[in-house]
Amino acid sequence: MVFESLSEKLQNALGKLKGKGKLSEKDVDVAMREVRLALLEADVNFKVVKDFIKKVKERAIGYEVMESLTPGQQVIKIVNEELTNLMGEKEAKLNFASTPPTVILMCGLQGAGKTTTTGKLAFNLKKQNKRPLLVACDVYRPAAIKQLEVVGEKVNVPVFSMGDKINPVDIAKAALEHGKRNGNDVIIVDTAGRLHIDEELMDEIRNIHDAVNPNEVLLVLDAMTGQDAVNVAETFNEKLGITGVILTKLDGDARGGAALSIRAVTEKPIKFAGMGEKFDQLEPFHPDRMASRILG
Ligand code: GDP
Repeated sequence: MVFESLSEKLQNALGKLKGKGKLSEKDVDVAMREVRLALLEADVNFKVVKDFIKKVKERAIGYEVMESLTPGQQVIKIVNEELTNLMGEKEAKLNFASTPPTVILMCGLQGAGKTTTTGKLAFNLKKQNKRPLLVACDVYRPAAIKQLEVVGEKVNVPVFSMGDKINPVDIAKAALEHGKRNGNDVIIVDTAGRLHIDEELMDEIRNIHDAVNPNEVLLVLDAMTGQDAVNVAETFNEKLGITGVILTKLDGDARGGAALSIRAVTEKPIKFAGMGEKFDQLEPFHPDRMASRILG
Protein backbone atom coordinates (compact mmCIF):
# COMPACT_ATOMS: atom_id res chain seq x y z
CA MET A 1 0.00 0.00 0.00
CA VAL A 2 1.14 3.55 -0.73
CA PHE A 3 2.77 5.34 2.21
CA GLU A 4 3.24 2.10 4.12
CA SER A 5 6.88 2.62 4.89
CA LEU A 6 6.51 6.36 5.54
CA SER A 7 3.59 5.72 7.80
CA GLU A 8 5.50 3.18 9.85
CA LYS A 9 8.52 5.43 10.25
CA LEU A 10 6.51 8.50 11.20
CA GLN A 11 4.45 6.58 13.71
CA ASN A 12 7.62 5.20 15.17
CA ALA A 13 9.32 8.60 15.43
CA LEU A 14 6.30 10.36 16.90
CA GLY A 15 5.27 7.44 19.08
CA LYS A 16 8.38 8.00 21.19
CA LEU A 17 7.10 11.46 22.10
CA LYS A 18 3.73 10.21 23.17
CA GLY A 19 4.91 8.46 26.30
CA LYS A 20 6.81 11.44 27.66
CA GLY A 21 5.24 13.65 30.29
CA LYS A 22 7.25 16.71 29.39
CA LEU A 23 9.20 17.40 26.23
CA SER A 24 12.54 19.10 25.92
CA GLU A 25 13.63 20.93 22.82
CA LYS A 26 16.06 18.09 22.29
CA ASP A 27 13.23 15.51 22.28
CA VAL A 28 11.49 17.47 19.51
CA ASP A 29 14.75 17.85 17.62
CA VAL A 30 15.46 14.13 17.71
CA ALA A 31 11.94 13.26 16.57
CA MET A 32 12.05 15.84 13.78
CA ARG A 33 15.32 14.45 12.53
CA GLU A 34 13.62 11.07 12.16
CA VAL A 35 10.57 12.64 10.53
CA ARG A 36 12.84 14.44 8.08
CA LEU A 37 14.61 11.24 7.13
CA ALA A 38 11.33 9.36 6.73
CA LEU A 39 9.99 12.03 4.38
CA LEU A 40 13.18 12.07 2.30
CA GLU A 41 13.11 8.29 2.05
CA ALA A 42 9.52 8.50 0.88
CA ASP A 43 10.88 10.62 -1.98
CA VAL A 44 9.35 13.90 -0.86
CA ASN A 45 11.06 16.88 -2.51
CA PHE A 46 13.95 18.01 -0.29
CA LYS A 47 12.91 21.66 -0.23
CA VAL A 48 9.39 20.66 0.71
CA VAL A 49 10.81 18.56 3.55
CA LYS A 50 12.95 21.44 4.77
CA ASP A 51 10.03 23.88 4.89
CA PHE A 52 7.81 21.28 6.49
CA ILE A 53 10.23 20.51 9.33
CA LYS A 54 10.81 24.21 9.94
CA LYS A 55 7.09 24.88 10.27
CA VAL A 56 6.45 21.93 12.55
CA LYS A 57 9.41 22.79 14.76
CA GLU A 58 8.39 26.42 15.10
CA ARG A 59 4.99 25.38 16.31
CA ALA A 60 6.11 22.40 18.39
CA ILE A 61 8.76 24.22 20.37
CA GLY A 62 6.28 26.91 21.38
CA TYR A 63 5.36 27.39 25.02
CA GLU A 64 1.83 26.03 24.73
CA VAL A 65 2.98 22.67 23.43
CA MET A 66 5.95 22.20 25.71
CA GLU A 67 3.98 23.15 28.80
CA SER A 68 0.85 21.22 27.93
CA LEU A 69 -0.10 18.04 29.76
CA THR A 70 0.14 15.95 26.60
CA PRO A 71 2.96 17.52 24.60
CA GLY A 72 3.54 14.38 22.50
CA GLN A 73 -0.07 14.40 21.35
CA GLN A 74 0.20 18.10 20.55
CA VAL A 75 3.23 17.52 18.34
CA ILE A 76 1.42 14.71 16.50
CA LYS A 77 -1.54 17.03 15.99
CA ILE A 78 0.76 19.68 14.53
CA VAL A 79 2.38 17.16 12.19
CA ASN A 80 -1.07 16.03 11.09
CA GLU A 81 -2.18 19.61 10.40
CA GLU A 82 0.99 20.47 8.52
CA LEU A 83 0.80 17.27 6.43
CA THR A 84 -2.77 18.20 5.55
CA ASN A 85 -1.73 21.75 4.63
CA LEU A 86 1.05 20.36 2.50
CA MET A 87 -1.46 18.41 0.44
CA GLY A 88 -3.85 21.31 0.12
CA GLU A 89 -6.01 21.69 3.25
CA LYS A 90 -9.32 20.58 1.81
CA GLU A 91 -10.76 18.67 -1.11
CA ALA A 92 -10.43 20.60 -4.38
CA LYS A 93 -13.53 20.08 -6.47
CA LEU A 94 -13.84 20.33 -10.24
CA ASN A 95 -14.67 23.75 -11.62
CA PHE A 96 -17.75 23.64 -13.77
CA ALA A 97 -18.51 26.37 -16.30
CA SER A 98 -21.37 28.66 -15.28
CA THR A 99 -22.70 28.19 -18.80
CA PRO A 100 -22.21 24.61 -20.05
CA PRO A 101 -20.41 22.92 -21.57
CA THR A 102 -17.53 22.61 -19.15
CA VAL A 103 -14.35 21.75 -21.01
CA ILE A 104 -11.74 19.52 -19.36
CA LEU A 105 -8.36 19.13 -21.03
CA MET A 106 -6.54 15.94 -20.04
CA CYS A 107 -2.78 15.79 -20.38
CA GLY A 108 0.12 13.68 -19.22
CA LEU A 109 2.92 11.36 -20.16
CA GLN A 110 2.31 8.06 -21.86
CA GLY A 111 1.52 5.26 -19.45
CA ALA A 112 0.52 7.59 -16.61
CA GLY A 113 -3.05 6.38 -16.90
CA LYS A 114 -4.53 9.24 -18.92
CA THR A 115 -6.97 7.28 -21.05
CA THR A 116 -8.11 5.08 -18.17
CA THR A 117 -8.55 8.16 -16.00
CA THR A 118 -10.51 9.94 -18.73
CA GLY A 119 -12.94 7.00 -18.63
CA LYS A 120 -13.06 7.04 -14.85
CA LEU A 121 -13.79 10.76 -14.83
CA ALA A 122 -16.60 10.30 -17.36
CA PHE A 123 -18.02 7.47 -15.24
CA ASN A 124 -17.82 9.67 -12.15
CA LEU A 125 -19.54 12.60 -13.93
CA LYS A 126 -22.30 10.39 -15.24
CA LYS A 127 -23.07 9.39 -11.68
CA GLN A 128 -23.56 13.12 -11.01
CA ASN A 129 -26.11 13.20 -13.82
CA LYS A 130 -23.79 14.94 -16.24
CA ARG A 131 -23.70 14.14 -19.93
CA PRO A 132 -20.03 13.89 -20.82
CA LEU A 133 -18.50 13.60 -24.26
CA LEU A 134 -15.01 12.18 -24.75
CA VAL A 135 -12.85 13.63 -27.50
CA ALA A 136 -10.05 11.70 -29.19
CA CYS A 137 -7.26 14.18 -29.93
CA ASP A 138 -4.35 11.73 -29.89
CA VAL A 139 -3.78 11.23 -33.61
CA TYR A 140 -0.23 9.94 -33.27
CA ARG A 141 -0.43 6.63 -31.49
CA PRO A 142 -2.36 4.35 -33.86
CA ALA A 143 -4.26 2.54 -31.10
CA ALA A 144 -5.12 5.65 -29.08
CA ILE A 145 -8.43 6.48 -30.76
CA LYS A 146 -9.56 2.87 -30.56
CA GLN A 147 -8.54 2.69 -26.90
CA LEU A 148 -10.66 5.74 -26.08
CA GLU A 149 -13.59 4.29 -28.02
CA VAL A 150 -13.36 1.08 -26.02
CA VAL A 151 -13.25 3.10 -22.80
CA GLY A 152 -16.27 5.13 -23.92
CA GLU A 153 -18.20 1.97 -24.63
CA LYS A 154 -17.36 0.50 -21.25
CA VAL A 155 -18.60 3.53 -19.34
CA ASN A 156 -21.39 4.15 -21.82
CA VAL A 157 -20.26 7.64 -22.82
CA PRO A 158 -20.07 8.86 -26.44
CA VAL A 159 -16.67 9.42 -28.04
CA PHE A 160 -16.06 12.08 -30.68
CA SER A 161 -13.30 11.25 -33.14
CA MET A 162 -12.33 12.30 -36.66
CA GLY A 163 -9.68 9.69 -37.30
CA ASP A 164 -5.96 10.42 -37.37
CA LYS A 165 -5.71 12.60 -40.48
CA ILE A 166 -7.13 15.80 -39.01
CA ASN A 167 -5.25 18.33 -36.94
CA PRO A 168 -6.06 17.85 -33.21
CA VAL A 169 -6.87 21.55 -32.81
CA ASP A 170 -9.58 21.23 -35.47
CA ILE A 171 -10.86 18.02 -33.87
CA ALA A 172 -11.16 19.75 -30.52
CA LYS A 173 -13.02 22.72 -32.03
CA ALA A 174 -15.40 20.44 -33.95
CA ALA A 175 -15.99 18.37 -30.81
CA LEU A 176 -17.01 21.47 -28.90
CA GLU A 177 -19.60 22.34 -31.53
CA HIS A 178 -20.78 18.73 -31.67
CA GLY A 179 -21.11 18.63 -27.88
CA LYS A 180 -23.08 21.86 -27.78
CA ARG A 181 -25.50 20.58 -30.42
CA ASN A 182 -25.97 17.29 -28.61
CA GLY A 183 -26.47 18.66 -25.12
CA ASN A 184 -23.21 17.35 -23.68
CA ASP A 185 -22.48 19.44 -20.62
CA VAL A 186 -18.91 18.23 -20.01
CA ILE A 187 -16.43 17.80 -22.84
CA ILE A 188 -13.34 15.81 -21.87
CA VAL A 189 -10.52 16.21 -24.36
CA ASP A 190 -7.96 13.40 -24.37
CA THR A 191 -4.65 14.62 -25.81
CA ALA A 192 -1.59 12.80 -27.09
CA GLY A 193 0.58 11.26 -24.43
CA ARG A 194 4.32 11.53 -24.70
CA LEU A 195 7.23 9.57 -23.38
CA HIS A 196 9.06 12.66 -22.20
CA ILE A 197 8.32 16.35 -22.24
CA ASP A 198 8.44 17.17 -25.93
CA GLU A 199 8.34 20.77 -27.18
CA GLU A 200 6.37 20.05 -30.32
CA LEU A 201 3.62 18.15 -28.54
CA MET A 202 3.61 20.75 -25.81
CA ASP A 203 3.00 23.47 -28.40
CA GLU A 204 0.19 21.42 -29.88
CA ILE A 205 -1.56 20.97 -26.56
CA ARG A 206 -1.12 24.69 -25.95
CA ASN A 207 -2.90 25.32 -29.27
CA ILE A 208 -5.71 22.93 -28.34
CA HIS A 209 -5.91 24.74 -25.02
CA ASP A 210 -6.24 28.14 -26.70
CA ALA A 211 -8.84 26.82 -29.13
CA VAL A 212 -11.19 25.33 -26.52
CA ASN A 213 -10.46 27.57 -23.52
CA PRO A 214 -10.80 24.80 -20.91
CA ASN A 215 -12.28 25.22 -17.43
CA GLU A 216 -9.95 22.53 -16.17
CA VAL A 217 -6.53 21.42 -17.34
CA LEU A 218 -5.92 18.17 -15.50
CA LEU A 219 -2.52 16.59 -15.48
CA VAL A 220 -2.52 12.83 -14.98
CA LEU A 221 0.54 11.67 -13.04
CA ASP A 222 1.75 8.24 -12.05
CA ALA A 223 2.42 8.24 -8.30
CA MET A 224 4.91 5.41 -8.77
CA THR A 225 7.29 7.77 -10.57
CA GLY A 226 7.97 9.85 -7.45
CA GLN A 227 10.20 12.88 -8.02
CA ASP A 228 9.80 12.52 -11.77
CA ALA A 229 6.08 13.11 -11.39
CA VAL A 230 6.87 16.33 -9.56
CA ASN A 231 9.24 17.47 -12.32
CA VAL A 232 6.65 16.67 -14.98
CA ALA A 233 4.04 18.62 -13.03
CA GLU A 234 6.33 21.63 -12.79
CA THR A 235 6.95 21.66 -16.54
CA PHE A 236 3.33 21.15 -17.59
CA ASN A 237 2.30 23.82 -15.15
CA GLU A 238 4.84 26.27 -16.52
CA LYS A 239 3.96 25.64 -20.14
CA LEU A 240 0.26 25.09 -19.89
CA GLY A 241 -1.02 26.38 -16.57
CA ILE A 242 -2.64 23.26 -15.17
CA THR A 243 -5.60 23.63 -12.83
CA GLY A 244 -5.15 20.36 -11.01
CA VAL A 245 -3.57 16.95 -10.85
CA ILE A 246 -4.95 13.44 -10.88
CA LEU A 247 -2.54 11.09 -9.19
CA THR A 248 -2.88 7.51 -10.42
CA LYS A 249 -1.79 4.15 -9.03
CA LEU A 250 -2.09 5.16 -5.40
CA ASP A 251 -3.29 1.61 -4.84
CA GLY A 252 0.24 0.43 -5.61
CA ASP A 253 3.28 0.59 -3.39
CA ALA A 254 4.44 4.08 -4.37
CA ARG A 255 6.46 5.70 -1.62
CA GLY A 256 4.11 8.65 -1.68
CA GLY A 257 6.57 11.46 -2.24
CA ALA A 258 4.67 12.77 -5.25
CA ALA A 259 1.43 13.09 -3.32
CA LEU A 260 3.21 15.05 -0.62
CA SER A 261 5.25 17.33 -2.89
CA ILE A 262 3.06 18.28 -5.84
CA ARG A 263 0.87 20.81 -4.12
CA ALA A 264 3.80 22.61 -2.53
CA VAL A 265 5.90 22.64 -5.70
CA THR A 266 3.21 23.62 -8.22
CA GLU A 267 0.65 25.29 -5.94
CA LYS A 268 -1.96 23.29 -7.83
CA PRO A 269 -4.25 20.85 -6.03
CA ILE A 270 -4.50 17.10 -6.41
CA LYS A 271 -8.16 16.72 -7.32
CA PHE A 272 -8.50 12.96 -7.63
CA ALA A 273 -6.63 9.79 -6.82
CA GLY A 274 -6.66 6.67 -8.99
CA MET A 275 -7.02 3.65 -6.73
CA GLY A 276 -7.11 0.81 -9.25
CA GLU A 277 -7.65 -0.09 -12.87
CA LYS A 278 -11.44 -0.20 -12.75
CA PHE A 279 -13.61 2.71 -13.80
CA ASP A 280 -15.17 3.17 -10.39
CA GLN A 281 -11.74 3.43 -8.75
CA LEU A 282 -11.27 7.17 -8.90
CA GLU A 283 -11.68 9.01 -5.63
CA PRO A 284 -11.76 12.69 -4.70
CA PHE A 285 -8.48 13.49 -2.97
CA HIS A 286 -8.95 14.45 0.68
CA PRO A 287 -5.71 15.87 2.15
CA ASP A 288 -6.98 15.54 5.73
CA ARG A 289 -7.95 11.90 5.35
CA MET A 290 -4.65 11.14 3.65
CA ALA A 291 -2.70 12.80 6.48
CA SER A 292 -4.64 10.85 9.09
CA ARG A 293 -4.06 7.65 7.18
CA ILE A 294 -0.33 8.29 7.10
CA LEU A 295 -0.17 9.00 10.82
CA GLY A 296 -2.42 6.04 11.68
P1 GDP B 1 -2.02 6.46 -20.86
O1 GDP B 1 -0.91 6.02 -21.77
O2 GDP B 1 -1.57 7.58 -19.98
O3 GDP B 1 -3.29 6.75 -21.56
O4 GDP B 1 -2.23 5.24 -19.83
P2 GDP B 1 -3.39 4.15 -19.76
O5 GDP B 1 -4.68 4.76 -19.41
O6 GDP B 1 -3.33 3.31 -20.98
O7 GDP B 1 -2.90 3.34 -18.48
C1 GDP B 1 -1.64 2.68 -18.38
C2 GDP B 1 -1.78 1.51 -17.41
O8 GDP B 1 -1.96 1.98 -16.08
C3 GDP B 1 -2.97 0.61 -17.70
O9 GDP B 1 -2.58 -0.74 -17.52
C4 GDP B 1 -4.00 1.02 -16.65
O10 GDP B 1 -4.89 -0.02 -16.33
C5 GDP B 1 -3.09 1.35 -15.48
N1 GDP B 1 -3.71 2.29 -14.52
C6 GDP B 1 -4.25 3.49 -14.75
N2 GDP B 1 -4.67 4.06 -13.60
C7 GDP B 1 -4.41 3.18 -12.61
C8 GDP B 1 -4.60 3.20 -11.18
O11 GDP B 1 -5.11 4.14 -10.55
N3 GDP B 1 -4.20 2.07 -10.50
C9 GDP B 1 -3.62 1.01 -11.14
N4 GDP B 1 -3.25 -0.02 -10.39
N5 GDP B 1 -3.41 0.98 -12.46
C10 GDP B 1 -3.80 2.04 -13.19
